[in-house]
Amino acid sequence: PDFVSPDPIWLHARIRPASTAAIDLAMGMSWTYRELDTDIQRAVTVLEARGVEPGARIAVLAQNSVYQIILQQAAMRLGAIFVPMNYRLAALELRLLLRDCTPVLLVGEAVASALPEGCEAISMAAFADLVAAAEPRPRRTAAIASHETCIILYTSGTSGTPKGAMLTPQFLLATAVNFNILGEVDTGCVFLCDSPMFHVIGIVTQIWPPLLRGGTVIVSPSFDPELTNARLSDATLAVTHYFCVPQMAEALRHASNFNPSQWTNLKALFTGGAPNPPTRIRWWLDQGVLIVDGYGMTETGTTLGMPLNWEIVRNKAGSVGVPGPLTAVRLVDETDQDVADGAPGEILVFGPNVTPGYWNRPEERERAFTADGWIRTGDIGRRDGDGFISIVDRRKDMFISGGENVFPVEIEAALISHPAVREASVIGIADERWGEVGRAYIVVATGQSLDADELVEYCRTLIARYKIPKEFHFVDTLPRTTSGKVMKHILRSGDWPPPPPSC
Ligand code: ATP
Ligand code: MG
Repeated sequence: PDFVSPDPIWLHARIRPASTAAIDLAMGMSWTYRELDTDIQRAVTVLEARGVEPGARIAVLAQNSVYQIILQQAAMRLGAIFVPMNYRLAALELRLLLRDCTPVLLVGEAVASALPEGCEAISMAAFADLVAAAEPRPRRTAAIASHETCIILYTSGTSGTPKGAMLTPQFLLATAVNFNILGEVDTGCVFLCDSPMFHVIGIVTQIWPPLLRGGTVIVSPSFDPELTNARLSDATLAVTHYFCVPQMAEALRHASNFNPSQWTNLKALFTGGAPNPPTRIRWWLDQGVLIVDGYGMTETGTTLGMPLNWEIVRNKAGSVGVPGPLTAVRLVDETDQDVADGAPGEILVFGPNVTPGYWNRPEERERAFTADGWIRTGDIGRRDGDGFISIVDRRKDMFISGGENVFPVEIEAALISHPAVREASVIGIADERWGEVGRAYIVVATGQSLDADELVEYCRTLIARYKIPKEFHFVDTLPRTTSGKVMKHILRSGDWPPPPPSC
């Protein structure tokens, strides 16, 4: 009734065995497709020898490496479930997630106090040694069907506790096809992957598109703005596709060795995962870098993307583009009726790239999906007459001031366009007269000074009066997730900025 899971590495090991599939910068190693395929079969032997059975979970707590790709692919060939976890979480947070997914094996840096009973732990280096010494297991027909779970990926936790989205082989394939068509990916592509592999960008969007296409993925253990700038400028690496969150793009342009005129192989800088304001998009275009914003979530992978077209990107700066070819998108009102072009509506997504639901949380499916299977993203979008969508805001972040809906992302974009503002975040707070009003948190750019009156004056020329924040808090930093998103629930709790440590 279903097709078996896709296995692009097995395929390319037959049709382009000697092409470079993966390079690990920290280990100084590279794999052809044939070598990668063989190492995956060796890893299957390793997992079987440790008693990992179909359906069992394998947790990973480690920096990026090609061995994570090998482990993920081996788990999929065996029918086991790969669970990459954020190694920056505290032991208590980890314990909760490990109790949720109950792995039989943990690969990476084990936190003894967080390990659930019956879970064996080995380091990534030990896993690599075991793989090198193992006999490759002859490949059987893949043990898993395209709609079954092969990865549990926890969401970023921007709006609260992370939820374990179940990802399927068809999710991985569809998200790669969407990316490859929108991003003009061909067999000569070289992706640089330095986003954490516990996030959908690192483990899916920077891995599956090049491996599906038969290209090369270069893996870096973690993000470092100076190193990334140097790698994008390195003609030997010849990176063609680089994808990061807007916060990382900001770090690149503020690093001392930023020189995009040397990024000669790069077809485009891809961003997604958080708002990238129009002024920033235009700034990159003015530097001669084609920046391509896209939209997706842990639950839907690559969903929308801008084309690699300077004119469209400039004319529609701030848009996240059109749906990939395997995905349908609707914008609806509170009664699930489609809204007219130009009107804000919640984004619903349907297609093989959509998660079947959350691990251990069947009740969430009810809440998160329509009766006919579209996922409710919780994000508000707006479609223009050409079919291009812009993200207005998260529905939960909208507030109502004097009866008007206010979307903080629009206010943040206005504030960030001020040259002395480095970062800005806006929340709604209770107000006797207006119901709710905006409170802005501002990080001032190094060496600049600024006060609230000046910002109010500046905003008057850009946004309606009722949208202008009534309170301004000048802070040193904003509370961000590891993927660089502002955790507004922390701002709303009133606990920001945190009190200085008392020695
Ligand atoms: P949690 O679900 O745990 O609160 P999260 O939603 O941040 O965390 P992710 O799945 O990493 O977890 O992020 C998806 C969300 O990121 C989307 O729902 C959307 O709100 C936001 N997002 C993604 N791409 C863009 C973009 N290009 N512009 C604006 N927002 C984006
Ligand atoms: Mg989410």
